[in-house]
Amino acid sequence: MATLFISSSLGYALLTKIFSPSPVKRPKFAIVVHGGAYNISDSIAEATEMGCRKAAFKGYEKLYAGGSAIDAVEAAVNELENNEVFDAGYGSVLTRDEGVEMDAIIMDGQNYRTGAVACVTSVKHPITLAKHVMEGTSHTLIVGKGADSFSKQVGMPQVKVEDLVTQIARDEFEKFREYGDTVDNVFNSLSAKEPQPPQELGHDTVGCVAIDENGNIAAGTSTGGITNKMPGRVGDSPLLGSGCYAENCVGGVSTTGHGESITKVLLAKSCLDRIAAASKSNARECIRDALQDMQRKVSGCGGVICISSDGEIITDYSTPRMCTAQIAHFQEPTPYKNSRGKVITSFSNRCYSGIEREKNTWSTHDFEQKLSARVKGKVDI
Ligand code: ASP
Repeated sequence: MATLFISSSLGYALLTKIFSPSPVKRPKFAIVVHGGAYNISDSIAEATEMGCRKAAFKGYEKLYAGGSAIDAVEAAVNELENNEVFDAGYGSVLTRDEGVEMDAIIMDGQNYRTGAVACVTSVKHPITLAKHVMEGTSHTLIVGKGADSFSKQVGMPQVKVEDLVTQIARDEFEKFREYGDTVDNVFNSLSAKEPQPPQELGHDTVGCVAIDENGNIAAGTSTGGITNKMPGRVGDSPLLGSGCYAENCVGGVSTTGHGESITKVLLAKSCLDRIAAASKSNARECIRDALQDMQRKVSGCGGVICISSDGEIITDYSTPRMCTAQIAHFQEPTPYKNSRGKVITSFSNRCYSGIEREKNTWSTHDFEQKLSARVKGKVDI
């Protein structure tokens, strides 16, 4: 009887071990980026995904070198701002009067420090200007002329609007301006008027969330806004609690989508408040709930990337598609010899990217090869 009891309890323990979900292992550090939530046409899908991977890796490089989450977010967003496939920095969309007005925000979850800029016209990297606001002023948001002259004051390279405008942005503007109020038509199902702008056009806002090896979380968002917007219009992206929020004890969030809707429901903060109230038990459901709530209350669509304080990475969206890329790093690289005696360095990274809910796995291997070559002074990535 005793034997039966012991073996059955052992069997039970074994079965429980096999079938219960393994506890979420906390990564040493992690990063997730997005390249916007919208229709993402097949013609730019691959470039969008590759751009997100490259940006994630730029941030990962910082984290790998022991850098802060803030520096990783800036590096990743700078990379996206350089890429014309995205609506941020170089490649920003055009306003109704064919200008460029960019918005950005960055937040440090360790101490609630925040910097943001809106309607900036003279720099290629609004996220860096936002970081200057955070680190060099006692303010949280600087707009328009004030932000442009602050960018000069801090020595940021000055650019002309023509230097930021791409053919993609021009083509999109020409098409979209036939559709009246594109700000509402693109993302808001309640106020959308028929016909809607062509689905094959469009490119989008970028954002990043990172957690560093000290458990500090940072988030940032950068955008040119929505094509054909009124000059002076400010969307959700640079608004604290709407376009981004970070607090170490809960997590970090960057959002994208219909700015006016996101602003009305404070999407970034509402995701984190839900996670805090649910005692972090199901962060994924909390984010789904926040997006559904936005759709129910104000008919707005959008997307969210999040890293919880446990290092869990969550991405979700209510638009047709969203592009994201993520890297979670679990341990130091371990060199080992393969069967032919060649020394291989294996990185314990989990990397996913995609423009649909099913994510592709990808490897940082190629990037790491270049990284080590660069360290030896050979290649720039
Ligand atoms: N949220 C941005 C805005 O409304 C646009 C976007 O994310 O696509 O300015």
